[in-house]
Amino acid sequence: MLIYEGKSVYGGIAIGKIKFFQNKSQTVKRIHTPDTASELSRFKSSVSNAEKQLKQLYNKACTEVGTDNAAIFEIHQIMLNDDDFLDSIENIIAGEEVNAEYAVAVTGDNFSKMFASMEDAYIRARAADVKDISERLIRILSGVDESGIDTDEPVIIVAEDIAPSETVQLDKSKVLAFVTAKGSANSHTSILARTMNIPAIIGAEITDEHNGSLAVVDGFSGKVYINPDEELLLEMKNKVLEEKEKRELLNTLRGKENITLDGTKVDIFANIGNVSDLALVLENDADGIGLFRSEFIYLERDSFPTEDEQFAIYKSVAQTMGDKKVIIRTLDIGADKQADYFCLCKEENPAMGLRAIRLCLTRPDIFKVQLKALFRAAVFGNISIMYPMITSVNEIKAIKNIVAEVEQELRNAKISYRVPEQGIMIETPAAAILSDKLANEVSFFSIGTNDLSQYTMAIDRQNSCLDEFFDPHSEAVMRMIELTVKNAHNAGIWVGICGELGADTSMTERFLRMGVDELSVSPPKVLSVRKRVRELNLGI
Ligand code: PEP
Ligand code: MG
Repeated sequence: MLIYEGKSVYGGIAIGKIKFFQNKSQTVKRIHTPDTASELSRFKSSVSNAEKQLKQLYNKACTEVGTDNAAIFEIHQIMLNDDDFLDSIENIIAGEEVNAEYAVAVTGDNFSKMFASMEDAYIRARAADVKDISERLIRILSGVDESGIDTDEPVIIVAEDIAPSETVQLDKSKVLAFVTAKGSANSHTSILARTMNIPAIIGAEITDEHNGSLAVVDGFSGKVYINPDEELLLEMKNKVLEEKEKRELLNTLRGKENITLDGTKVDIFANIGNVSDLALVLENDADGIGLFRSEFIYLERDSFPTEDEQFAIYKSVAQTMGDKKVIIRTLDIGADKQADYFCLCKEENPAMGLRAIRLCLTRPDIFKVQLKALFRAAVFGNISIMYPMITSVNEIKAIKNIVAEVEQELRNAKISYRVPEQGIMIETPAAAILSDKLANEVSFFSIGTNDLSQYTMAIDRQNSCLDEFFDPHSEAVMRMIELTVKNAHNAGIWVGICGELGADTSMTERFLRMGVDELSVSPPKVLSVRKRVRELNLGI
């Protein structure tokens, strides 16, 4: 038995086989291959395989999202058969006597750079498509499944790191646990693991010789046991039973109020990233949705979701939740959440770059599509919206101008809509410090402690090497929260916490004493926070 140690991101025990996750963008090695004829034939068969995949994707997309939106897969088929593209790859294989993967990677890189430098915005946008096609070919050539995991049974996913866009595309029913070498507790991949309620460990460097081995992931201690002995297996199976019993006890709190012994009430909402998380929200009896990370809708696909597609998603969430509140955060793309088709410039410092509301204000064409979908869906339920990464009153004024334009356009088109309650996220020190002024402009605040901690302490939330400097209960952050709550209440608006700290039951008492009105946590945490609230006596 081998034991690897990392850092726990989410508790729980998983027992199963290890599967190494292949990142979509793989590093391709240049291998000298004198047998160019067989390399060329390998390449040709990868092209016909890619064609088949694209045809299937086109047909699937036609039935699911309509022919207009499926057209992208037709474009990919045309680009795949472009003579210049194919000639370049074949010439590199034959001329340089190299492997097909390398020839595809070089050609894909050259073509996408060429497209990206064009004047015409449409051609520029094709840069991401060439990259996509090349990656598809490389995946086929190297025998990697589209989803990154090719398995019939649920497995323990082991990887160097996984991007949020890759995590959302995984078939969740096939994942028992995540173990990565990189990443940090506040990264979006860790957040997704918490939402999925599966054990997750970071900082464990497992080598790929263990692919396929039986393993136990102990998400409580941060340990991974490879080829566990009988004794350990038995111990872990007992732990699984204990966990089940604890969960059953928590389930007795379903339907109960979130009220302290002395009568203070608080809303406990859930954070979601996807319509499929709704089942967990209902199962865990959340009072509403406090944060719907809408950017995951964008990350799950290869092109912009249309207004109608988004409308259908928001409407179905609102209708499922009935009269319960559903707070949808507008697009928070950028930093670690990247989608190629946005064609964003590479930034030196993406966490402080063109992300979230900054991107939306720079690209009102993208922002307006989302707002229209949200306003239309608001007719069907109790939707609120909130804007991420606010740093000034001017940004809110700019948003209000765009909202007015959107309203006008919907009115002109005689489409029914409702402008929902609008709030902002307080996740930058600037927003917390200006919260007295900002509170006069909006209807609520939701404190994003993940980013607020990152920016207040100047600690990259992605960088696990800084763990020893990261204090999740930093007094500086606590003061920012306290100030924000005070300023919200002075202005007569409500305030919640939707960052991961909201689920930290060692802080629940402090937050309630500050007067926080709502805590929004990953669905599996709802009942444990409710339990904590019901044990408290604030004596007020
Ligand atoms: C936050 O920053 O606390 C937050 C809730 O948003 P995200 O984690 O998606 O950045
Ligand atoms: Mg944030």
